[in-house]
Amino acid sequence: MHKMMRAAVVREFGKPLSIEYKQIPQPGPGKILVRVKACGVCHTDLHAADGDWPVRPSLPFTPGHEVAGVVAAVGAGVTNFKDSCDGGFADYVVADAAFAARLPEHIDFAEIAPILCAGVTTYKGLKETEARPGEWVVISGVGGLGHVAIQYAKAMGLKVIALDIEPAKLNLARMAGADFAINATVPDTMSEVIKLTQGGAHGVLVTAVSPSAFSQALSLVRKKGTISLVGLPPGQFATPIFDVVLKRITVRGSIIGTRRDLDEAIAFAADHKVKAAIQRAPLNDVNKVLADLKHGRVDGRIVLEMAMDAAEEQSKREALRV
Ligand code: NAD
Ligand code: ZN
Repeated sequence: MHKMMRAAVVREFGKPLSIEYKQIPQPGPGKILVRVKACGVCHTDLHAADGDWPVRPSLPFTPGHEVAGVVAAVGAGVTNFKDSCDGGFADYVVADAAFAARLPEHIDFAEIAPILCAGVTTYKGLKETEARPGEWVVISGVGGLGHVAIQYAKAMGLKVIALDIEPAKLNLARMAGADFAINATVPDTMSEVIKLTQGGAHGVLVTAVSPSAFSQALSLVRKKGTISLVGLPPGQFATPIFDVVLKRITVRGSIIGTRRDLDEAIAFAADHKVKAAIQRAPLNDVNKVLADLKHGRVDGRIVLEMAMDAAEEQSKREALRV
């Protein structure tokens, strides 16, 4: 095993990450060392790197939690892991053995990576709406999370209206199987949703990165419906007391999911019922990827593939030799 590895490090909030060489960490008791094959770039990584939230991570740190890889070494007391796992924007990451999920065999690491956060978070978030098969859900925000949420919702037997503010995302929503895709900025969005659902959706899942989508969600749900909030933009939203009380609306936050939710979310992907729309990029492109994500230029999910940098360097070296 090589002694050094690359990692993309946040040294200052809101500043480009620096690609640094550092020692490969050793897994302590109950931990595993994962050789990262692919890591999805989630908007949460961007919020963390920008220091968007009231609670900020301590600097310096390496983001990246949608990790698919192979177990390279196990720490003391780990007996149940031989081959797969969870991690970072780096060549290696140490993970807690008890919270790493076993991946199906013969998978494309880059394709499964988005399932490990976007997949499980939206699958769980949809369950939290308590919408039943045949009922309506609105999925607000068709980014990395939203486009897999649409596929989970369809696989769960739900009827789906997708909302976003970008025409390209609405096309992605249709390709992902949404029954309707509507621009959230047009003034009659609310009446359109109420009409299509005959009184409002049974559940609304908000993955959008804008507080206005959270307020809008309250106007799209029917009596006794539930809005499940998973998006994490900084800020607040107004809650109209009269509507929430009279319509007996439930407003619920949802954070990732349990290990069981994760296994179930992976099973949908293994059965080809859910497939993330991915674009692959090398680790060296991490700052461009984050900038694109910030400006809403990413359709689906960008996944960093660690081997791509090695391949790129190899071809550069070969080009130099010619
Ligand atoms: P993304 O950037 O890929 O997608 C966000 C989408 O929201 C984009 O398509 C954007 O066009 C859309 N959007 C922006 N304003 C909108 C509006 N007013 N109405 C409708 N759509 C709007 O981001 P992502 O990776 O899918 O993450 C989405 C959010 O979910 C982030 O805030 C992230 O931190 C959060 N998140 C939460 C959890 C959790 O456990 N709760 C897990 C993962 C991500
Ligand atoms: Zn995430």
